Amino acid sequence: MSFLSVDLQDKTYPNGVCAIRDLRFEVAEGEFVAIVAPSGAGKSTLLNLLAGLDKGFHGSLSYPHDASLSFMFQEPRLLPWLTLEANIRLVLDAPHRHTDLSRFARMDLLLQQLGLQDFRHAYPNQLSGGMKRRAALVRAFVTQPSLLLMDEPFQSLDEPTAQGLRQLLLQLWAESRPTVLFVTHSLNEALLLADRILFLSPRPAHVILDYRVPLARPRPLETSALQPLQAELLQQHPELLSGIPTFYQPD
Ligand code: ADP
Repeated sequence: MSFLSVDLQDKTYPNGVCAIRDLRFEVAEGEFVAIVAPSGAGKSTLLNLLAGLDKGFHGSLSYPHDASLSFMFQEPRLLPWLTLEANIRLVLDAPHRHTDLSRFARMDLLLQQLGLQDFRHAYPNQLSGGMKRRAALVRAFVTQPSLLLMDEPFQSLDEPTAQGLRQLLLQLWAESRPTVLFVTHSLNEALLLADRILFLSPRPAHVILDYRVPLARPRPLETSALQPLQAELLQQHPELLSGIPTFYQPD
């Protein structure tokens, strides 16, 4: 049975822009699904609908009522006037969360695992870009989400830093196995991380290809190892490239 079921007939903004039409897919529990689409296709709109931030749509979205949700954005979104630890405690202290001691123990463990324990009292402007993303990863995982929505979380980082973060994400995912929807522009990133890739059309977004990644885990680290698969995929599905210049970002 699927964990997440998306059947969006229409999402049109008040200004008349139709961002999503007939977008349908299902995701199994614990599955890691990447969403690859051109910019402006409606990916952030989809994540906002899933997170319940926007109720103005026709169609249905369903996942278990007791699912706990985390959202990781393009920017790390740390509050600059709070220390790293205080930023993470914010999600643990939130009134709707059940706070218990084990959560704080989990925070300590994650800070250690992600190499941030010596920086817990540092402010965001004292952290590198990679460290801020690691802090955002701790914040995303510390509540043990069952559904994790990620909106291009490793964008605008140098490749080695992004690669290190992808490995950390895969480790954390393997430990607690949340269901993940990971939006990206990068086909290589999707191939490296995901069980399945949903390719979306330009706006209004709908699924043009639902692709199961035929790679065992752990995945090869070098992007060169992914190139034959990438070439084969694009050869079999040239429509993924045609007329969509921003679709494919060579890595
Ligand atoms: P993506 O995340 O794939 O880049 P978005 O979901 O942000 O795309 O946007 C999809 C389309 O909806 C774009 O054409 C964008 O301009 C439009 N859009 C996004 N948010 C709004 C809004 N609040 N009001 C009107 N149009 C919007």
